[in-house]
Amino acid sequence: MTQVLIDDNREPSPGEPLYALKGVTRSFTKGGVTVNALRGIDLEIARGETVSLEGPSGSGKTTLLQLLGALDTPTSGQIRFAGRSLEDESDSVLTDIRSREIGFVFQQFNLIPTLSAAENVAIAMVPRESSHVKRMARASDLLGQVGLAHRLGHLPSRLSGGEQQRVAIARALANSPEVIIADEPTGNLDSTNAGEFLALLDDLQQQFGVTIIIATHDEDVASHTGRRVRIRDGSIASDTTTAL
Ligand code: ADP
Ligand code: MG
Repeated sequence: MTQVLIDDNREPSPGEPLYALKGVTRSFTKGGVTVNALRGIDLEIARGETVSLEGPSGSGKTTLLQLLGALDTPTSGQIRFAGRSLEDESDSVLTDIRSREIGFVFQQFNLIPTLSAAENVAIAMVPRESSHVKRMARASDLLGQVGLAHRLGHLPSRLSGGEQQRVAIARALANSPEVIIADEPTGNLDSTNAGEFLALLDDLQQQFGVTIIIATHDEDVASHTGRRVRIRDGSIASDTTTAL
């Protein structure tokens, strides 16, 4: 079950970006109607970058994140990620890539309501770490790093929205991923918690050197990232990098 599907020797060549997308499209057909959600995306993202994907509702942000997160494959085009061509990989390899290399933070946090904060983080390590004791120890460490050392045994229902999101971030970091992908991460937070979330991301970026990709329509969040990619109707409208 915990069979290793990835050949770890397939590392990207030096200088290769973490992501390289070429001509990526994604269309959905339902009841004879086709929606072209992405219409030819060319994008490179380097290791350690923090990037926001901005755009109005329906512009294609979630669709693009699903492709970057190996949750979906493109209709056409190429997605190179960490030295692999995702569009060619089987579902089982994509699953393995997700569990090893990608951490997700969803708007709804998606915590398991019957598990404590620590258990919610520890369960993400099940495919990679067979020792329950080691999983729980690492979960405690990670929750400490996101400022929740005093909440390890709390159920999600006993945590505030901001705290639940911190658990979700600790869970996303559980397997030391290359990249954290967050879809509208501040959509359910008030402005204080949103500010704290951004500060925490900076912190994690510095500590772990992890690449961070955030879809948002919140100007405050986007202006916080060094690189802003704006999406309109499934195409990249602009891509700007500012020294922060
Ligand atoms: P955003 O996250 O920017 O709001 P989405 O990526 O969710 O945008 O959606 C982009 C477009 O693709 C929308 O028109 C949406 O309705 C359509 N879409 C997304 N996912 C699906 C799907 N599974 N089936 C059909 N249409 C979809
Ligand atoms: Mg969306």
